Amino acid sequence: MNYDIVIIGSGITGASIARELSRYKLNIAVLDKASELPAGASRANSSMIHGGFDDKPGTMKAKFCVPGNKLWHSLKDELDVHVDECGSFVCAFSDDEIKHLELLLNQGITNGAPGLEIISGDELRKREPNVSPEIVAALWSPEAAIINNFEAVNAMIESAQINGAKLFLETQVTGLLLDDKGNIRGVATNKGDFTAPIVINAGGTHSGEIASWAGDSSFKIIPTKGEYFLLDRVAGTFITSFLFSCPSKAGKGITVLRTAEGNLMSGPTATEQEDPEDRATTPEGLAEVLKGARKLVPNFPVNMNITTFAGVRANTESGDFEIKALSKPRGFINAAGIKSPGFTSSPAIAKYIADMIKEEFADRVKLIPDEKFIPERRNIPRFLYLDMDERKKLAEKDSSYAQIVCRCETVTEGQVIEAIRRGARTISAVKMMTRAGTGRCQGGFCCPRVAEILSRELNIPLDEITRHGGESKLLVGKTKEFLLKKEAK
Ligand SMILES: Cc1cc2nc3c(=O)[nH]c(=O)nc-3n(C[C@H](O)[C@H](O)[C@H](O)COP(=O)(O)OP(=O)(O)OC[C@H]3O[C@@H](n4cnc5c(N)ncnc54)[C@H](O)[C@@H]3O)c2cc1C
Repeated sequence: MNYDIVIIGSGITGASIARELSRYKLNIAVLDKASELPAGASRANSSMIHGGFDDKPGTMKAKFCVPGNKLWHSLKDELDVHVDECGSFVCAFSDDEIKHLELLLNQGITNGAPGLEIISGDELRKREPNVSPEIVAALWSPEAAIINNFEAVNAMIESAQINGAKLFLETQVTGLLLDDKGNIRGVATNKGDFTAPIVINAGGTHSGEIASWAGDSSFKIIPTKGEYFLLDRVAGTFITSFLFSCPSKAGKGITVLRTAEGNLMSGPTATEQEDPEDRATTPEGLAEVLKGARKLVPNFPVNMNITTFAGVRANTESGDFEIKALSKPRGFINAAGIKSPGFTSSPAIAKYIADMIKEEFADRVKLIPDEKFIPERRNIPRFLYLDMDERKKLAEKDSSYAQIVCRCETVTEGQVIEAIRRGARTISAVKMMTRAGTGRCQGGFCCPRVAEILSRELNIPLDEITRHGGESKLLVGKTKEFLLKKEAK
């Protein structure tokens, strides 16, 4: 299979690069080993579109965070992604911490972050009455926002696909292909070779290993786990924005936030580990989260917790992103080590990489603007947020929108069918695209129903349906057949 550009990984970095490059007349292949998106760090994070004050001026993170923030404020409408433009507060508990707020304020001004302001603890409590009485001041960032990260990744890659990019899931890149001059010729995968003169490494926690195939050992990924509590929507009125603790050497610290969909959430920890795929929560990690949450919000209602989860950051020793083209093999570009604020920065990183290809790789691929580029993409209708008239109209047009499949999140059969039409093949993919299974019962009610719809629409046996691909089958057989077999023995 011949392409102009192959992108390894379809997290928010790879998907944003694919969309940006789909503005040009290019054959683009995006390869991801996962069965559904998002899969890596883009799936499990704090979903904050950062204000841009936390990154040291001069770093790549500082370079891309503020422009990325600005881009998301317009992309949310273009791509129809749920964003809560709620702003954020960094909370100080002492005079020393107020000094740190001043440092962040100045850093933010240097980075070009607009509207930053230090307010008193009392002013903060007027806006967020449930925060600790011990908070003495806070840094307010009005441009910070919270995004639905599941929607954002799917919207970004779908927009790239609308504009001609091809997405290959369950396609694991296993090595690079070089020509006889030692330059990039493509990649080898479990599904065969994909040839292209440009290969972009957006492999998240695996990006260090992928870079090493190109002989680049200039950085190492240090997988760093962050654990979270996710509370019921009912608790979502407790805090209506994003609260940071004062950052320390260990990172941005424990936060309390309301997600874009209205759940209360707290986390993350920052624990280094060897395994880039280990996303298990731990009693110690969750105890640390709870302690941090209660420091910010003393009555943090953990009794309304509906699930816990963890994400793994692609941290680097330098603490910065690793974005560069290698001189040898020519044609290999790293968009690697994209840790926080990577989600925020991704659309700006994508523009930078498109410019880099235009300027440095004109001999390998020409970026000719495609006048047929369609910037808009519409989401699957979100039944939960429609008023009664809109719901009625939708159900009259298509009766599958009158069948509720997920009671917690009010997801209809029509939405599930539309997700399948847009490429969902697993229970988890339907969850990422519709929110079926993300509510209070965590799929207890809707999971069998979603499996039945997948089986019917894809015309595959029910016992072949998987939770997230591979061996993650839901059913091992029918109870009666199982019992009869046992009796016969
Ligand atoms: C706990 C935590 C909190 C965070 N909070 C925030 C925040 O609030 N705001 C913010 O801006 N950022 C935040 N981040 C950072 C942000 O989530 C990441 O920067 C971003 O998601 C990285 O995206 P990515 O596409 O580079 O990597 P990923 O999302 O990890 O995607 C990499 C993809 O590559 C695929 N892949 C890997 N190897 C291969 C291979 N060999 N072949 C094929 N496919 C492969 C994987 O399956 C995966 O889908 C947080 C991260 C974590 C973990």
